Amino acid sequence: MSKQFNLYTLVRKNIASLKAYSSARDEYTATGSDMIFLDANENPFENGVNRYPDPYQRTLKKAIGELKQCTEEQILLGNGSDEVLDLIFRAFCEPGTDSIITLPPTYGMYKVLADLNDVKNKEVLLTHNFQPNVSAMLEATDSTTKLLFICSPNNPTGNSFTKENIQEILESFPGIVVVDEAYIDFSKDKSWITQLANYPNLIVTQTLSKAYGMAGIRLGICFASKEIISLLNKIKPPYNVNELTQKKALQQVLNDVEVQKQIQVLLNERFYLEEELRKLDFVKEVFKTDANFILVRVDNAEARYNQFLERGIVIRNRTTQPLCENTLRITVGTPEENKKVLNILKELK
Ligand SMILES: *Cc1c(COP(=O)(O)O)cnc(C)c1O
Repeated sequence: MSKQFNLYTLVRKNIASLKAYSSARDEYTATGSDMIFLDANENPFENGVNRYPDPYQRTLKKAIGELKQCTEEQILLGNGSDEVLDLIFRAFCEPGTDSIITLPPTYGMYKVLADLNDVKNKEVLLTHNFQPNVSAMLEATDSTTKLLFICSPNNPTGNSFTKENIQEILESFPGIVVVDEAYIDFSKDKSWITQLANYPNLIVTQTLSKAYGMAGIRLGICFASKEIISLLNKIKPPYNVNELTQKKALQQVLNDVEVQKQIQVLLNERFYLEEELRKLDFVKEVFKTDANFILVRVDNAEARYNQFLERGIVIRNRTTQPLCENTLRITVGTPEENKKVLNILKELK
């Protein structure tokens, strides 16, 4: 189906014809150090942030492109993945008319953004082993269905969807397939970024909030064809990624060796936690995970959650999610924190 893919029949008409706001920094982009900038009504006295930031974050995108093996034209940056995902809704979904498909149990933000944009959210449950039900998903698809959200590794289950399943979805779903890879850096699987050239209907999102340790700066990354990226660029707020975030993100992207070391520590800790959790009587199942968290099924999630809380440890009770009855989601912490968690687990009755 991707062979017949036509981006311009999917995009909202008002977005296709929209002319983007042209900022002062858009009109003049050269950065000669001897230039005098009197075009944006800024305060000229230097303090590190007195100038508007680069609206296209060129330096940061160049570094991200080198790290992720793609071109700068295939990247859009946002104020967290949440902004990136919202821009995707606004580009493709006509409020009050269009629909999307999500595959619960999954990340709650897709549904919130659907409600916010007045877009119908059609939920197609994962199978009992937390894989997409591809035929049910295609059955739920109609001419209003613009987007499909795949979260792999999935939050809160932790598992990755098989390559075959994702490939089948990319080839059969007639709209845009968004693959949310917030946890990809913890997984052995290759990113779908490598497949952008083969699938014009593919959007991959990543974030600096998890493995890269920068949840506080809010940087979400969107990878897609340059046609999709230029559509999203038209509708993003001109200065959506602030100067402090751009600087801090650049440092961390260039410091990838350190990040990879931390990831290895967290993975080793996770293996250890998984093993120890399996030994406990009240733990019924430790689900396979490719992320920096573990979903466990216990005897009574509510009671166990409260026991943790009383001992000063906050975890996530996921029991109300479909297929997740009596489950808890535990993030992997520092080695010291994990030891505390295990000590508490061992004394719980
Ligand atoms: C944490 C998380 C994100 C990250 O969102 P940010 O807005 O970039 O912090 C995105 N998707 C999923 C599935 C997540 O769990």
